[in-house]
Amino acid sequence: MNNLKGIAASAGIAIARAFTLEHPDYSVTEKQVTDTDAELAKLDAALAQSQAELEAIKARTLQELGEKKAEIFESHLLILNDPELIEPVKSKIASESVNAEYALNETATQFIQMFENMKSAYLQERAADMRDVTKRILKHLLGLNYVSPSEISEEVIVVAEDLTPSDTAQLNRNYVKGFTTNIGGRTSHSAIMARSLEIPAVVGTKNVLSAVQNGDLIIVDGLEGDVIVNPTEAIVEQYRAKQDAYAKQVEEWKKLRSEPTVSKDGIHVELAANIGTPNDVAGVLENGGEAVGLYRTEFLYMGRDKLPSEEIQYVAYKSVLEKMEGKPVVVRTLDIGGDKELPYLDLPKEMNPFLGFRAVRLCLDRQDIFRTQLRALLRASVHGNLRIMFPMIATLGEFREAKALLEEEKAKLISEGIPVSEEIQLGIMVEIPSTAVLADQFAKEVDFFSIGTNDLIQYTMAADRMNERVAYLYQPYNPAILRLVKMVIDAAHREGRWVGMCGEMAGDATAIPILLGLGLDEFSMSATSILPARSQIGKLSRSDMQALAAKALEMGTAEEVVALVESIEAAAE
Ligand code: PEP
Ligand code: MG
Repeated sequence: MNNLKGIAASAGIAIARAFTLEHPDYSVTEKQVTDTDAELAKLDAALAQSQAELEAIKARTLQELGEKKAEIFESHLLILNDPELIEPVKSKIASESVNAEYALNETATQFIQMFENMKSAYLQERAADMRDVTKRILKHLLGLNYVSPSEISEEVIVVAEDLTPSDTAQLNRNYVKGFTTNIGGRTSHSAIMARSLEIPAVVGTKNVLSAVQNGDLIIVDGLEGDVIVNPTEAIVEQYRAKQDAYAKQVEEWKKLRSEPTVSKDGIHVELAANIGTPNDVAGVLENGGEAVGLYRTEFLYMGRDKLPSEEIQYVAYKSVLEKMEGKPVVVRTLDIGGDKELPYLDLPKEMNPFLGFRAVRLCLDRQDIFRTQLRALLRASVHGNLRIMFPMIATLGEFREAKALLEEEKAKLISEGIPVSEEIQLGIMVEIPSTAVLADQFAKEVDFFSIGTNDLIQYTMAADRMNERVAYLYQPYNPAILRLVKMVIDAAHREGRWVGMCGEMAGDATAIPILLGLGLDEFSMSATSILPARSQIGKLSRSDMQALAAKALEMGTAEEVVALVESIEAAAE
């Protein structure tokens, strides 16, 4: 048995066999061969293995997910058997005496590039399919042992160095009971996705991948941040009891689902949810969310080969607005960059991606991308209660420029006879210290603020939110952060604006009493945190929390702030 400590990233307890996920290296080198027949035989064997694998996946997909999803694998089988791809590979091996993987890679790359350069959406999709099939054949040619996360078909806990947002998006909740990674923090995007999928997760363990063998029994305790490898029977029993107790607690919280969020002294606040896809709305409603406080639209742009069209975006935004049935939905415009990459944009690598060309900076430069998104949003606005929010605003100039583009697109749509809501509120994320400090000026021009503490903390403390070696500096309760939050809330309220918070701090049980005392109007968090937060706020009185917040602002360290909050909790018990 081996115990590892990490960061509790998504609540709950999972007990299952480990599935170690390592991204394979598909790179190939050209080699001259003397025995071309042996290379041809190797290719045939790899094709046969790929064929068997695809047929099995297709049959399973058909049974579990239906005909439509299974069609993808039918088209992969067609490519695998397409003589127009395979014959040129064979003749390259024979005529140039090169190794099979090189011949395949060269030939397929030519086809992929040709398809990608065509205008037709159908051919562009074929390029993506061909890339998948090529990887599958290469996997066998290179002897790589790799199962993609989407192919997992038994109950497991995924163990990985890190999970990219697209890996996380592929995880099937029916089989993936939990995950644990070497790197990442509570605000890394894999952790955020885990919470929206409601899968227990522990991240930032530093060494789980080397401590665990594929197939080991492991426990992931997403409440405490523990990973237990090969536990004894007695420990498994203990965790099963903890799992049951947590399930009972969740049942208790569920009773608050249709209740408003009111403090003990009658102050209403709004509890909203952060979502990444339209599918997440079901979880928001199930968990009693009163609004969507942050829709991270970048997931629409990831996991595909090209930018999503206006129509694709319109359908997604409309779907969220309709499902929320008139409750507010804050949609954040594209926030790509940092730890969220879009390979097809082919942006140059940067020394400091979190300080670089990301979010609204990219959108103001690539106006084609930004305008398409704004049009889709404006068109969708008539289907619900839409609020638009720009991320990573550092200057008032950026806000004005982004707003002007929105106004231009709105005027164009109206002149085309397309209806647009007149009620759209326009806000910004406050996640850069310059904007927090200048909040009084911003408050004159925006309808609302949403404080993005995930970034605000990393920029204020100069501590990369992804780097566990400086995680000790990533301090939500540092009085410096609390003072910035207070400045923003006070500045907004002086101008009659509302303030939300959509960073992870908004759902943090230690921060909530202080935020309530500081006067935060809207708390936006992972859907699963809403009911515990509602239960907590119901037991707090705002006037007491005002006094608590005033004390916290005068403390010198984060540790003192935590001790202060714990002392009032102890007194209340
Ligand atoms: C934030 O920075 O607090 C935030 C909510 O945005 P993201 O985590 O997507 O950067
Ligand atoms: Mg951010």
